[in-house]
Amino acid sequence: MLAAVALLAVAPLPRPLAAAQARLPVPLRQAMERIVWTPARVDSLILALPQVETHLHLDGALSPRTIRELAIQQNYKPLAQLSVSQIARKVVVQKKRDSLGEVLQAFRTIYPLLRTPQAVEEMAYQAVAAAKRQRVMYFEGRFAPALHTTPTFSQEQVLEAVLRGLERGRRDTGVRCGVIICLLRGIPGVTREDNAQMARLAIAYKDRGVVGLDLAGNEAAEPLSDFAEFFRQAKQAGLRTTAHVGEVPGSKDIETALELGVDRLGHATLLAKEPALTREVLRRGLPIEVNLTSNLRTNAVADLKQHPLRSWYEAGIPVTLSTDDPGIFGITLQHEYRLLPRLRFSAQDIATVAYEGIDALFLPEADKQALRERFEKGLARTLKRIAKQPPFTDLGGR
Ligand SMILES: [Zn+2]
Repeated sequence: MLAAVALLAVAPLPRPLAAAQARLPVPLRQAMERIVWTPARVDSLILALPQVETHLHLDGALSPRTIRELAIQQNYKPLAQLSVSQIARKVVVQKKRDSLGEVLQAFRTIYPLLRTPQAVEEMAYQAVAAAKRQRVMYFEGRFAPALHTTPTFSQEQVLEAVLRGLERGRRDTGVRCGVIICLLRGIPGVTREDNAQMARLAIAYKDRGVVGLDLAGNEAAEPLSDFAEFFRQAKQAGLRTTAHVGEVPGSKDIETALELGVDRLGHATLLAKEPALTREVLRRGLPIEVNLTSNLRTNAVADLKQHPLRSWYEAGIPVTLSTDDPGIFGITLQHEYRLLPRLRFSAQDIATVAYEGIDALFLPEADKQALRERFEKGLARTLKRIAKQPPFTDLGGR
């Protein structure tokens, strides 16, 4: 019995798990090991953790409050007369839907409001303001210019309006955002030429705010391979790439994404059913943008316990946690981190996920290093405070 206890005390963590945790700098790891982690303390950690976000749609981030303000400004009859909670009932997907297609319908309600320079600028500004409220240091916001155009509002003008909103947000809050342009599939009215134009625009604005190219929309409608030439052009021009893949059964998009050499995978929940592809993702160290609530509400994953996040993390696949559409799902990034203990993530694991998310960003190494230093300082401060906190009192991350 004694021997067994001794063995337990020195038993190493499973190797990949130890390797993942080892990524936190040693002094922080030691400081975390000295703390007795009660659920209240883990929660305090989550609320105070400096974060980055890789997968956030600017249109999906609009809150019912902002939607109402835009509706009143534009005298948009279907929404202007409604209260914030009435609008929330129309646009917030609170429960699981049968498919991704159904969730996309929630977007249709808000699009008529997002076709003026002022509204698009405000959409971008509000995303930065929300990031600031959640201790997000930097995020990558994505959108599709083609969804906002009118005969007098071009794709380029849409992008310029977004960049103005992000810059105004940065000046007011200090939070920066890199733009990812989303090509679209299966969206009525969006043509091949619209997508070609968006790909050209992304390349033209590289180093002027745009950091990457993505493919969004309905995966069931059209394969990623149809968009291969745009991804190759973007890569050649030095843009980073990601794609929404592996969300709907029967899709070959994860394989195609690997062939195209994308830099991250969005969602990729069905990767769990593909051992050979999983090994390849691991070999490349390809980060997966994980969006837990989104995966549950679009029914990509039946319940949280079945989500592959934990097995990816244990295998050593880099994972980054994001909200996808915080407005549409009525969530925050902190809400997503609060789901991690239910997947057996310890305090150290949670801090490791937040820290390693920085590696996955589409930023130059010097910028990532600056974010790592901010994270390390912020976490060190938080740990000192938590160590003094009574173990069972939630101090709400102050
Ligand atoms: Zn998404």
